[in-house]
Amino acid sequence: MKILVVNAGSSSLKYQLISMTEEVVLAKGLCDRIGLPGSLIKHKTFDDRAVTKEIEMKDHKDAIASLIRVLTHEQWGVIKTLDEIKAVGHRVVHGGEKFFKSVVIDEEVMKTLEECVELAPLHNPPNITGIKACKHNMPNVPQIAVFDTAFHQTMPKKAFIYALPYEYYKKYKLRKYGFHGTSHKYVSERAAHLLGRPTDKLKIVTCHLGNGSSIAAVDCGKTVDTSMGFTPLDGLAMGTRCGTIDPAVVTYIMNKEGLTTEQMDAIMNKESGVLAISGVSSDFRDLDTAVEQGNERAKLALEVFAYQVKKFIGSYACAMGGLDAIVFTAGIGENNGVMRTMVCEGLEFLGVSIDETKNNTRGIEIDVSKDDAKVRVLVIPTNEELAIAKETKKLVCEC
Ligand code: ADP
Repeated sequence: MKILVVNAGSSSLKYQLISMTEEVVLAKGLCDRIGLPGSLIKHKTFDDRAVTKEIEMKDHKDAIASLIRVLTHEQWGVIKTLDEIKAVGHRVVHGGEKFFKSVVIDEEVMKTLEECVELAPLHNPPNITGIKACKHNMPNVPQIAVFDTAFHQTMPKKAFIYALPYEYYKKYKLRKYGFHGTSHKYVSERAAHLLGRPTDKLKIVTCHLGNGSSIAAVDCGKTVDTSMGFTPLDGLAMGTRCGTIDPAVVTYIMNKEGLTTEQMDAIMNKESGVLAISGVSSDFRDLDTAVEQGNERAKLALEVFAYQVKKFIGSYACAMGGLDAIVFTAGIGENNGVMRTMVCEGLEFLGVSIDETKNNTRGIEIDVSKDDAKVRVLVIPTNEELAIAKETKKLVCEC
């Protein structure tokens, strides 16, 4: 069974065609600058045939048509006809309270998806456009929505309610939702597999540390708390996002600097985080280089980040009443052994103890804890596309 995974952004669209029998990526690519001059498609196959081509793509429908052409192309293709694609799995950022699991998209679901736009005005509209474009170009292929928020819908009310007037929750559904759910689910399940224990017997803290970072407490296979909130701005200080700050700071800066809500929003999302602390970069590789050159603010940025991750791990161990494993994933979690060490330093009292030789690794699934450590520390590369494809397959087979 071959499944197409689509992740549609406002002017770009990433795709992967996955053969589910062997769970291998047959081809993947990116349609970029959709609706802009110089739109192009970058495409690569499993056997290293690669092409980058400028193609006019006025909208997402054109982008889907282009990726279908390249997937079935004589020279660059990996399938003969469109009929080989059995389903399309779409990444959808926000499912609100309506979607607690993946769904087959029908008219009713489309209506509800439109209702969720209010909650994620930047992310959901392009996701919906991607779905409509696929329906247009592949009317007979089942379309499945897989939500970033769905895995966290198991959080108890005490974890997701904000101490604000309750009417805001009722009127606007203002509450914590959490994001990166597909990744947290995938790595927590892989962790159980690696440890040879069932998910429903494990207390795991999953640390998705990338440009956007979030942490989840996964108790018996279910999220009980997570660091991102109503939006992906909450929680950890990230590449360019401020994460949790005193809420009073927002109005204070706005008054002092005479800022509009849009300007303040841009500062918190695009001009803050480790970029702001370091004054160097949002990329941790650049920060490492700056630290080597003696940059004190870059060092401080890394310390702030590690300290915050550590505090979340501690608080989530308390929330779950125990801890069996910590999982590191995404760009920083998978590749930055020094950051993993900084996070785990001082957690020996919990039973965490890293083996530095094992930890000197990147991008592979590995248990980096000492043999006798009570809490296992695992590095697990995330694979959100495969997770979306698996969900899609499950739903299509249920139909
Ligand atoms: P996102 O998917 O949220 O855009 P990523 O998961 O790609 O982000 O993570 C980006 C971060 O991961 C950057 O700060 C970068 O420094 C770090 N990173 C990515 N790849 C590597 C690598 N090979 N070695 C060290 N750090 C890496």
